[in-house]
Parts: sequence; structure tokens; C-alpha cells
Amino acid sequence: MTIRNVNTGNQYGQYTPDFVDYWDDLVGWESRAASEGGFYERLLKGSGVREVADVACGTGFNAINLAKSGLVVTAADGSENMIAKTRENAAQMGVTFAETKVADWVKLDKEVGTERFDALVCLGNSFTHLFEHEARRDAMEAFFKVVRPGGVVIIDHRNYDSMLDHGYTSSHQHYYTGKGVDAYPAELNRYLARFEYKFPDGAHFQLNMYPLRQDYVSHLLEDAGFINVERYGDFEKPYDRENVDFIQQVAYKP
Ligand code: SAM
Repeated sequence: MTIRNVNTGNQYGQYTPDFVDYWDDLVGWESRAASEGGFYERLLKGSGVREVADVACGTGFNAINLAKSGLVVTAADGSENMIAKTRENAAQMGVTFAETKVADWVKLDKEVGTERFDALVCLGNSFTHLFEHEARRDAMEAFFKVVRPGGVVIIDHRNYDSMLDHGYTSSHQHYYTGKGVDAYPAELNRYLARFEYKFPDGAHFQLNMYPLRQDYVSHLLEDAGFINVERYGDFEKPYDRENVDFIQQVAYKP
């Protein structure tokens, strides 16, 4: 079997057009929306948010749902292919955004301006694509700059702690819920999580990711200046640190 899309160099260069075409099947929009249960919409609206930037919009799942809920959404991503797909999906669903933009996280403040949004979200295990601590620090600093004082940031990532400490198990109830799609780590150590995705038609892709630990991400948020970091596990709090698949980290700009 041919494995497509082995790491191509930069963090979003991995999203080649043929992988992007499969991405929506992988995401499984309806079941993913059901599993999220409106968590992000509730949390953002409860924090008084009106304008939000989804800075890793991918094919548009969260950006579109946030816009449907009445929030004013800017959909951004570093990958032109992903942005093209987001625009296509939004048009099909009759959803409009404040703006769509190809933007790398480290240049975000230069691309969109400072103190522009009440909230910034980076969801669906996206932050894992940065492999250098310095890049993660710089991206987080740019996130801090584009959020208004009093604003909120949400970052969500896989529960790599439990994978690294106890091995991989996944209920597959969240995120990668597309029918018949298999997603699992082919290689896992403290520097690399190489995930494989197998589709029912035999298509087979790989993505390389950096296994982010929960405490590390909280510290990155605090080092950038965010305060009051709260963590949820699979959208609930409190949560069992070892038995959830995904962690949502929420923090505020003073
Ligand atoms: N949030 C979407 C979802 O949950 O379906 C997409 C998640 S996908 C795993 C990660 C996304 O992050 C990709 O669309 C990729 O292009 C984007 N990305 C990775 N590194 C980036 C960077 N440095 N700047 C901007 N976008 C980046």
C-alpha cells in the first residue's frame, strides 16, 4: 500500500490537496458536532465574546459552527488548501465570515492587526504542528497580541500525556469520527507522534506531530501573558487526566 503525504517539510505543507479532500471524511462533521455539544459556542458566548478568530480553521468545521451560532468569525489558516476548502464549505452552507485569511501563527498580529478579537481559538489538535519550542513561544505571543484585553484564548490538543505515559487508547468519540476512518500513532516518543490515517477506500496518509504535554501548554499560555488557565478533558471539568482523549485549555488576557 502506498502511504501518501509523508512529512513535506513545514508544519502545514503536510496538508496537500489530496489530503485536504479526505479531511472532511476524517473529521466526520455531524458526529463531531454532537460530541462537542456546543461547548465552544457556550463558552465563548458566556465570556461575552462577539468577534472571534479561528486561527487553524482547517476545512472550516469550528469557524462555520461559530458563525452559525451568531458570532462574527475570521477564519484563518497557514494552508492555502485549507482556506480554499473552508471558503467552499462555507459557501455551500450559506455561512459568511468577517474575513478569511491565509496566515501563519507567528505573523498573525502583522497579518490581522493587534487587539482585534474578543477571542482566538486554535482547535482540533493544531498547535501540535509546531516542532520547536521557540516557534510555539512566538506563536503564543502573537496569539496574545491579537486578542483584546479581557479576551479569551482556547487551545485544544490530544491528551499526549496519557499516550506517552500509558500507551495509546482512544474511544474515537471525539474529532476523528468519520465512518470507517482509522487514526492511530505509528510512532510515538517524546519528540514525535507520527499519526496514520486509513480511509475505507484504502487511502492512507501520515502526519507528524509534536506530543504536547498538558502542563507545558498551560505554561506556554502563562509565559505569553495569559492568566487563569482552565483545563477541560473531552469538554468536561473536572476530568480524569489519564482517561480523556482531548484537552481544551482556556485562558484570559488581563
Ligand atoms: N481546526 C481544524 C479542525 O479541527 O478540523 C483543522 C485542524 S488540522 C489538525 C491543523 C490545522 O492547522 C491545519 O489546517 C494546518 O494548516 C494549520 N496549521 C498548522 N500550522 C500552522 C501555522 N504555523 N500557522 C497557521 N496554521 C497552521
